[in-house]
Amino acid sequence: LEVCTRCGGRAVYTRRYSGEALCAPCFKESIVSKTNKTISRYNMIARGERVGVAVSGGKDSLSLLLVLDELSRSHDWHLTAFSIDEGVEGYRDEAIANARAITERLGLEHATVSYKELYGFSLDQALDWKEDRSVSSCSFCGVFRRRAIDEAASKAGVSVVATAHNLDDYVQTFLMNLLHGDVERLAWLDPAYSDESFPVRRVKPFMELYEEETALYAYLSGLPFQSVSCPYMHEGLRSEVRDYVNQLEAGHPGMKHVLLKSSLGVVSRFASTKLSVPCTRCGKPSSSGVCNVCRLKEAVNQQINYGDGPPRAGGG
Ligand code: SF4
Ligand SMILES: [Zn+2]
Ligand SMILES: [Zn+2]
Repeated sequence: LEVCTRCGGRAVYTRRYSGEALCAPCFKESIVSKTNKTISRYNMIARGERVGVAVSGGKDSLSLLLVLDELSRSHDWHLTAFSIDEGVEGYRDEAIANARAITERLGLEHATVSYKELYGFSLDQALDWKEDRSVSSCSFCGVFRRRAIDEAASKAGVSVVATAHNLDDYVQTFLMNLLHGDVERLAWLDPAYSDESFPVRRVKPFMELYEEETALYAYLSGLPFQSVSCPYMHEGLRSEVRDYVNQLEAGHPGMKHVLLKSSLGVVSRFASTKLSVPCTRCGKPSSSGVCNVCRLKEAVNQQINYGDGPPRAGGG
């Protein structure tokens, strides 16, 4: 194999768009410094700020935790981690256990917020209501997850939440929204966006890193890889978009970065502040008087009650 262009050691990775070959320690170091650059380029986190790290327990979020922990010392950040437990039997438990193990090792606080405790039903229960849904499982789940992250953030007293979306995620999401004709969600990709769905500032410190680089970082750091995936995930179009973008990148190294630049240019055009009114049910910001969370929660509860039939007096 090649020789590390930085220290002469044995290279484990070649960065195609820059031509650099890197050994394991130099590669890991480069991930930390690239993340640091992204954070300062987009003013993601201020010195001394309290930062919540949303940790799904997957390899990317665990990597984010390690990298931010390392950077936190020189930036005086106060990190706290939290996980959202959607309530998917046999899937999330493993990830949350991984998240807990790593946060413990780093000496960070870690809180778990569940759909069950916040909304009264788990995702499993909610999705029993399968038949006449107009939204996909993941969009449905996402409405509740965004609110759960805000609840966790306000409990932890943080002003910014960091998530582990990488360059591939970002570019795929951008293209997916275009292909779905979903202009509203294009705006969500703006690093400065805030509205009903995102009242607490969200930042993506990995958004300039390739998926293959975050995966290698996780591997070289000995982070656990999750063995099961969510049973409700339907990749469909996304995997076609992923293949297409990977093909483009293979033929034209650096193309993903160009797509990121273009996306940022487009989404910043949507950066108008949205008017919001308090939700009449829960008081959180809403665009129409009843927030998405309350709207969906009522629909689920109706279905759950209807599905179980009315409670019978006396029992039998
Ligand atoms: S894959 Fe979709 S349904 Fe499953 S936890 Fe993630 S967002 Fe929710
Ligand atoms: Zn080296
Ligand atoms: Zn509400």
